[in-house]
Amino acid sequence: MTTSDFRQYAHQLVDWMADYLENIEQYPVKPNVQPGDILRQLPAKPPTVGENFQQIFTDFQQIILPGMTHWQHPGFMAYFPANSSPPSVLAEMLTATMAAQCMIWQTSPAAAELEERVMQWLAQSCGLPAEWHGVIQDTASTATLCAILTARENYDIAQLCRINQKGFSGQPVFRVYCSSETHSSIEKAVRIAGIGSENLIKVATDKNFAMQPQALAEKIAQDRAAGYLPLCVVATIGTTSSMAIDPIEAIGNICKENQVWLHVDAAYAGTALLLPEYRYMAAGLPLADSYVFNPHKWMLTNFDCTAYYVKDKAALLRTFEIMPEYLKTPLDKIVNNYRDWGIPLGRRFRALKLWFVLRSYGLEGIQAILRHHMALAKQFEQWLLTDGRFEIMAPVNLNLVCFSLKPAPGDTPESINQKNSDLMAAINQTGRYFLTHTKLNGRYTIRAVFGQVNVEERHVAGLWELICSLL
Ligand code: PLP
Repeated sequence: MTTSDFRQYAHQLVDWMADYLENIEQYPVKPNVQPGDILRQLPAKPPTVGENFQQIFTDFQQIILPGMTHWQHPGFMAYFPANSSPPSVLAEMLTATMAAQCMIWQTSPAAAELEERVMQWLAQSCGLPAEWHGVIQDTASTATLCAILTARENYDIAQLCRINQKGFSGQPVFRVYCSSETHSSIEKAVRIAGIGSENLIKVATDKNFAMQPQALAEKIAQDRAAGYLPLCVVATIGTTSSMAIDPIEAIGNICKENQVWLHVDAAYAGTALLLPEYRYMAAGLPLADSYVFNPHKWMLTNFDCTAYYVKDKAALLRTFEIMPEYLKTPLDKIVNNYRDWGIPLGRRFRALKLWFVLRSYGLEGIQAILRHHMALAKQFEQWLLTDGRFEIMAPVNLNLVCFSLKPAPGDTPESINQKNSDLMAAINQTGRYFLTHTKLNGRYTIRAVFGQVNVEERHVAGLWELICSLL
């Protein structure tokens, strides 16, 4: 493809992209395809000679697009969103065009220094401790793995635990603690770190699905008495199922007393700290050793973009730094080489889209969108409560509403779960909305997240009307 062809096709694609965003509501939010439908349309062998771009683009429209779930559709209320915005998309285009691999300062000084600056901006804007150091990672899963690996490496018992150097020798047996509501990425990280799922201790939660600090303190004490080494606690601000908020201050104090690393996972809800009135959720956060949230979930920034903060930069670097001759530069002592701040060597230029978003919207612009989302959730909750046929299954702390049809006389636990599952399937079947579920106290619970950048009251009202029409 010549650059003149590239120019022509790029213009064509930008027009398509703007049309797509303008008309996104005309697509079914979730495609109506069966497993294998797309695969069958793709040749088993790759082309041996290059193909015409128009043909490739036609196939994108005819084969790929009908099999896509449209995450930027305002009816997308499933999981947690991975919201995006035009300035973020434009930055991604520039990132892709420059195609820089930003592993060390020298491989793109501007990328390293912009990353340093936007991480400082985010910390200030969310009220995070000024002395923390930030780095962009791909996902929250990776950031949590980094936290557990750093805690493991940092565990200070006469060099015995320097696992990076010595490997595992079977001892000591570390223990990691989280609540029974914690995201599955914590167990994955514990497995990868060689600690083992059996040593991930799930602490009981209260009626609001938040970790019980007293139960945590008891588990740690029991483990210590039994010869285990309590290593790390992962607390969550905004659990995936129900947006529960673990009490960070009480948990942090227990961690401090026990010299245990505290990692706080605020993957989704962390964006809400941009709003001063939601900072209460983070009371005690300065007690944490590491903290993660995803601008790629709710902060208008394309996937992937994860903000990871640590209190002790030296501990992070000790865990990940490795210095082969071919990567040494004379500036290594005075610059940030972000390859040493995480797992991969190669790194995308992710700071650019964050910079575009922060500058295009300004903090006030983002705050207005977040407040709008909270108000939509409250409105929807109000409709459900007033109607009387539904139960709100967890406090609506932010913009997630967990709800369930109340059991009717004669319903068994199975039959009411089935009714709720059928209701959600019927909603999704329309192609206008996409909701997903969880189980809370054994009850099938429908989740509706109002975090789509372009979601308006009419979409929420439309969902409510649809639900009423299906009952
Ligand atoms: N932590 C929480 C609380 C989450 O809700 C999620 C995903 O929804 C994750 C971690 C994992 O996020 P990522 O996909 O960035 O690894």
